[in-house]
Amino acid sequence: MLDVLRTKTPKIIAVANQKGGVGKTTTTINLGAALSESGSKVLIVDLDPQGNASTGLGIEPEDREFTTYELLLEDVDLQEVIVPTMMDGLSLIPATVDLSSADMELISNEKRSFLLHDALRQPQIDGFQFDYILIDCPPSLNLLTVNAMVAADSVLVPLQSEFFALEGLSQLMLTVREIRQTANPKLRIEGVVLTMYDNRNNLSQQVEADARDNLGELVFSTIIPRNVRVSEAPSYALPVLSYDSTSKGALAYRALAKELVEKNGKNAA
Ligand code: ADP
Ligand code: MG
Repeated sequence: MLDVLRTKTPKIIAVANQKGGVGKTTTTINLGAALSESGSKVLIVDLDPQGNASTGLGIEPEDREFTTYELLLEDVDLQEVIVPTMMDGLSLIPATVDLSSADMELISNEKRSFLLHDALRQPQIDGFQFDYILIDCPPSLNLLTVNAMVAADSVLVPLQSEFFALEGLSQLMLTVREIRQTANPKLRIEGVVLTMYDNRNNLSQQVEADARDNLGELVFSTIIPRNVRVSEAPSYALPVLSYDSTSKGALAYRALAKELVEKNGKNAA
């Protein structure tokens, strides 16, 4: 019955790669910003105890009263933990270092893999009706990442255009397959996006060729270039789309959002 009352079913995307520093948080923030810029309502869930997505969106630790920790482990309602950001249509559930103990605390919980799934499916209230929910995962395949994958419709994998980029990817794909076979049969791979791409660097081109050979259509056509404006933006607590709207990084994330929307339109048709 409740489903009938809901006007929207958000598309939930887990941004995951167990390697650190590959562009998960940057992609979550800027893809979220690009989607909201084009009129979608977007919620970012910071699921990394480092809280980089929260800081990058200007939510300081002292302003993080309720966080994903309270949402998962203290039954605080969804609407209580959502905060607005400086961008219209872009909201956040922040994280703090408290979340670092969650992985251990979850182990003894009977519903340990489903806590985020259940929390995000609380009936949405007015003003909090999202088209997209993007989950910024920690650099690990731990229970937090499992929660993200069980909650999600799809997994988006940022791949840093560096040596060893494809290493670890089979482990990630195996985890996705396991979750599909057990807790979340509809989970699919949204796509793999090459990040920090340097045109002048043979290695970037080699990684791209390898990725396209091995993963084919799963690799987004859009490539995110290495761009200093992208790396500066978080220290101004802004997505690069606001910090430098015409930078190469901003243009690339807008193109990624467009490609993602088009891909989904095609799949839905
Ligand atoms: P992860 O969340 O996977 O650990 P981050 O998104 O935090 O990775 O990115 C790691 C570092 O690389 C950060 O300092 C970030 O600012 C920088 N970075 C990410 N993408 C780009 C890019 N396209 N150009 C330049 N620097 C980038
Ligand atoms: Mg991160």
